[in-house]
Amino acid sequence: TPILELENVGKSYGNVHALRGVSLNVRQGEVTCVLGDNGAGKSTLIKIMSGLHDHTDGTMKLDGEPRRFGSPRAAQASGIATVYQDLALAPLMSVWRNFFLGNELRKGPLRTLDIARMKRICEDELGKMGVVVPDLDRPVAGLSGGQRQCIAIARAIYFGARVIILDEPTAALGVKQSGVALRYIVKARDAGLGVIFITHNPHHAYLVGNHFIILKLGRVVLDAHRDDLTLEQ
Ligand code: ADP
Ligand code: ADP
Repeated sequence: TPILELENVGKSYGNVHALRGVSLNVRQGEVTCVLGDNGAGKSTLIKIMSGLHDHTDGTMKLDGEPRRFGSPRAAQASGIATVYQDLALAPLMSVWRNFFLGNELRKGPLRTLDIARMKRICEDELGKMGVVVPDLDRPVAGLSGGQRQCIAIARAIYFGARVIILDEPTAALGVKQSGVALRYIVKARDAGLGVIFITHNPHHAYLVGNHFIILKLGRVVLDAHRDDLTLEQ
């Protein structure tokens, strides 16, 4: 079973049909790329999957069961993490504090960790993603865009995300940093997460994607598996 499924999902804002009849699956260990021009419905899709909006038609399923999240917290509690392009981290806060940001809202033993322990966890988790941050006490504003994306991804994985939704993670990055961010996407995929990669960039999508959805004016105009797109048959 896919972790998250949309079946014929539609969303209207009054009489604007932002999405119509959209179906897609998010599977463990796969990157599903969603491409489309401005106005295609990408943000609306993200909002539905991350609990900010309810769909107005069709069905969303989590682990095979129909589900509406109702709030971003509910989506997060179900293991759906969304990494927005620039809002993911608090720029002036240190790396390790960002990593544990919101932790005080979480239940369980992590609430009571001491600072040294939190820093160690942060360093280890970033290390697993191949990021070496020289000073965890420095504000994240001093890091590259690719590194900031990575911290947000590593944090989501550490706190139990099963699906990670990435909103244009490479849009503001140059060639080299895009490479860094794409490597983290592969790491998240290989860690067994289901990844939704929203992007304008078909090249970036092709580098990491297993599945490709193209939206146009709220409809799916292409739905292809990687195998469907290979040139050598
Ligand atoms: P994308 O992220 O691909 O640019 P959006 O999901 O933002 O697409 O928008 C899809 C369509 O829905 C557009 O026509 C947009 O103008 C419309 N839309 C998005 N949000 C709203 C809203 N809150 N109220 C009315 N129309 C909206
Ligand atoms: P929400 O839909 O939850 O209000 P959005 O971020 O989609 O949040 O939109 C922010 C504000 O801008 C809302 O008041 C929304 O109605 C309005 N808005 C966004 N996109 C459009 C659009 N394409 N047409 C009309 N209003 C829009």
